[in-house]
Amino acid sequence: MPINGEIFDSKKSKNSKYKRTNHRVLVKDDFPPEVKPPNGRITSIIGKNYIVQDLSDSHAEIECTRAGTIKSLHKNATLLAVGDYVHYSLSENKEINLGKITGIDERKTWLSRKPLIGIRDDIIASNADTLLIIMSSDFPPYNKRLIDRLIVAAKIGNLNPAICINKIDLFNDELIYEDLSVYSSLNYPLFFVSAQTGQGLSELRNYINKKELIFAGPSGVGKSSLINKLFGRNIQKIREVSNKTTKGKHTTSYARILELDTETRIIDTPGFREFGIVNIEKIELSLYFDDFKDYYEHCRFMPCSHTHEPDCAIKKAVSENKIAPERYESYINIYTSME
Ligand code: GDP
Ligand code: ZN
Repeated sequence: MPINGEIFDSKKSKNSKYKRTNHRVLVKDDFPPEVKPPNGRITSIIGKNYIVQDLSDSHAEIECTRAGTIKSLHKNATLLAVGDYVHYSLSENKEINLGKITGIDERKTWLSRKPLIGIRDDIIASNADTLLIIMSSDFPPYNKRLIDRLIVAAKIGNLNPAICINKIDLFNDELIYEDLSVYSSLNYPLFFVSAQTGQGLSELRNYINKKELIFAGPSGVGKSSLINKLFGRNIQKIREVSNKTTKGKHTTSYARILELDTETRIIDTPGFREFGIVNIEKIELSLYFDDFKDYYEHCRFMPCSHTHEPDCAIKKAVSENKIAPERYESYINIYTSME
């Protein structure tokens, strides 16, 4: 698959090596970026095909294959992902509602993780505004190390992180609010809900209104139950596509966009067990911990990994409880897991 675009990552450039920038600079290589605006958006993936929603008022859903050559600027990541704005053309055979994807637009935001196989970053979903990290109070108990990982992934992909703890009917205790208070102090929206009893759901609904959110979390936390509650019906049923040309059904191995109303979208993602950080250099990791930012410029060494160096301002802040020790633990945990 020829892909000619080059990504110049300003985070990795010499001059700004350790400064974080919100936007990646694109260096035009030997193909000009599409001048035409995209005409579709990938809403789900079925087998080898993509369901593309036309961006015109028709909102028609067209099952597309990929063209032999696709213009893409994302050299080191999944070629086509749910949420991508694409250029597609309809098949000449009018009998079947099939199209071909010929190009994709630059991703403004993305959630990516280390691929389980292969080398390209695994883009789970793109172009949303918020990552809603969903965990449960118990069965399975929430995992703060994983929450911190997902916050880092959100920030790398220019997404706003928010946290939702479900099954609060099982463990509704002061301790849990206390235990997670570090996230509210960092100003990440934090919700305690129960898909079973309905507790906290109206606050969550108000928050998600007019946003486009990626719902992500480990299996079993009640993500599907929450989505069904928010939609007021069993959304699993509408997964099955009525399109005649579609052979398979949506599988749970990919994300899919669900429209709650015309301005609110939820991108449902498959549950996962692990989540590997990609897309940044190891030494940049601390830049994605908001609670470290008042300190890292005061480390004696620059760059400082905040692991073994003497006179490290981060370690000092941890010892003085200015940074929550558990956040530092997460930092070390992610740092050592990166290549
Ligand atoms: P998913 O894997 O995250 O999509 O989780 P599911 O929605 O399939 O739910 C997993 C299990 O948790 C099911 O047995 C649900 O009935 C249960 N569950 C979901 N939400 C709640 C909740 O708020 N409270 C309790 N007690 N159980 C829940
Ligand atoms: Zn340091």
